[in-house]
Amino acid sequence: MVAAYNIKQQAHTSTNAYETALQQYDRAVKYLSIPDGIVEFMRYPRREFTVNFPVKRDDGRIEMFTGYRVHHSTVLGPSKGGIRYSLAVDMDEVRALAMWMSWKCALAGLPYGGAKGGVVVDPKTLSPRELESLTRRYAAELIPVISPHMDIPAPDMGTNPQTMAWIMDTYSMTVGYSVPAIVTGKPVNIGGSLGRNEATGRGVITAMVEALKRANRMDPANTRVIIQGFGNVGSNAAARAAELGFKVVGVSDVTGAIYNAKGLDVRTLRNYVAEHGDLRGYAEGDLMTNSDLLVQPCDVLIPAAMENQLTKDNAHLVQASLIVEGANGPTTTEADDIFTSRGIKVIPDILANAGGVIVSYFEWVQDLQAFFWDEDEIFRQLERAMMRCYENTERTAEEYDVDMRTAAQITAIKRVADALITRGIYP
Ligand code: NAD
Repeated sequence: MVAAYNIKQQAHTSTNAYETALQQYDRAVKYLSIPDGIVEFMRYPRREFTVNFPVKRDDGRIEMFTGYRVHHSTVLGPSKGGIRYSLAVDMDEVRALAMWMSWKCALAGLPYGGAKGGVVVDPKTLSPRELESLTRRYAAELIPVISPHMDIPAPDMGTNPQTMAWIMDTYSMTVGYSVPAIVTGKPVNIGGSLGRNEATGRGVITAMVEALKRANRMDPANTRVIIQGFGNVGSNAAARAAELGFKVVGVSDVTGAIYNAKGLDVRTLRNYVAEHGDLRGYAEGDLMTNSDLLVQPCDVLIPAAMENQLTKDNAHLVQASLIVEGANGPTTTEADDIFTSRGIKVIPDILANAGGVIVSYFEWVQDLQAFFWDEDEIFRQLERAMMRCYENTERTAEEYDVDMRTAAQITAIKRVADALITRGIYP
């Protein structure tokens, strides 16, 4: 595990997500006139919390699990960020994701800082009862560092609305009354928001459409889209792309990939995954490995699985001319440089996948006010917020003559730094 302040001394070849996050930060911050001490301050997560806890398995064994929650920044408001269940979770990954959440919330103009959490577990290996026990115990361990006004979790890889329901119930049982605003991404029948499930994928496609329009390339029927990851973000992005008439030619999940130059039927694919749990066995196209899919012919590539998928090893082989990051941190800084030199536009994660946290914010506001909006209103406000982020980022990119990632980070970091300077350094 690498300490926050030491990581900048690491070799610049690894694909440690936190290193990528810090490299991106260093690139952006040099365009801003921020006092050195403030620059240093924002490199650090504010709080890091590690918990080790037992879960009783169905066969009676007691197994230990490790979980994390990192609050990167609380300058703009309570911290906000998802909870991930994956075997790849470690402190550095959670730190990176928490930092990206700070910039994402700031870029979207939300009154939130950034956080992230995770448990080192493959949720597919647990029974529903074991998963509920693990979630409730992890939530109980997090109680000192979460609250509707301190830190508000949401779903991420490996977690879903049911996970959020268990966290909401555990928190509510502990304090003695129902607190829907403790998490977002809950089921609608316990205070969740309409549209939250679709929000991230839908927002990704809003960003894609805007990028195509600005390049005078808005021709859905002749635009081939490849999507890596077919979970919440990937499948909803695919559905929205298909709804708008785009040709989804390739999709993948952790089990493998499928490519069909004529276009895949997204509705059938989604039904198949809903029934079988994953893409294995789906036969309407060419089967290939996940990494091969990334370099197949297409116009738009949407990585929507996890970090470090586009690296110096495959960036020169990518055939897309536009990359829209549904996942957080899918592109390393070396790959970014290759894409820039090849004229491939990258719409960065903190802009492209901000739809999730934007509708999470709407959910939190609705919960706090106990007043709920209809779906049309949610999608209208989501579209407005995404367009505002996009517009601001393009404007900054022109002003500083930088790529979209650096522009998005400049905009976000400046907002956090300005707020920090206004608030002052305590005591
Ligand atoms: P999910 O668990 O619903 O789906 C993840 C998908 O990726 C699954 O199809 C899984 O099989 C696939 N996958 C996992 N490992 C893979 C690998 N090595 N190669 C290819 N595919 C792989 O997760 P999600 O919520 O869709 O999140 C996906 C990404 O989007 C993550 O980076 C997450 O941080 C980011 N994100 C999610 C949200 C949200 O609202 N859920 C919001 C913003 C960003």
